Amino acid sequence: MSLPIDIKYVRLISSRLRNFKQKNSYLWNFSCPFCGDSQTNKLKARGYVYAKGNDLFYRCHNCGVGTNAANLIKQVDSALHGEYVLERYKSGESNTFVRKVTQHPHYTYHNHDLANQKSKEYSNTQNGYQTCQVDIFV
Ligand SMILES: [Zn+2]
Repeated sequence: MSLPIDIKYVRLISSRLRNFKQKNSYLWNFSCPFCGDSQTNKLKARGYVYAKGNDLFYRCHNCGVGTNAANLIKQVDSALHGEYVLERYKSGESNTFVRKVTQHPHYTYHNHDLANQKSKEYSNTQNGYQTCQVDIFV
């Protein structure tokens, strides 16, 4: 279940989104952080977050950008985006998130399919534990 996580992070970035309003349970409206929507009229709000399946997506009716919640969060707060991908990853595969390793302290890369999205996992070995981080690509 990733929808509750997506909603949690949209709420976390909401204070940084101009004219942020929740329209209904699964629809939010605010000024687009990609195009500035708009520079001349600060009351304009043409960006929408909406639910589709088990995920949230974003679309702006001014600049036309359409993307997933991950890229919206990344645009607003890249540090928070890091926490978001970790939380999404942990919710799906908690037991493989941190695993004990005994050798080769170096980064390893491999691609895998995470919740049907293309993703890249990179791992770092530290203090005998391997921590994994996942980037999700659209
Ligand atoms: Zn826009």
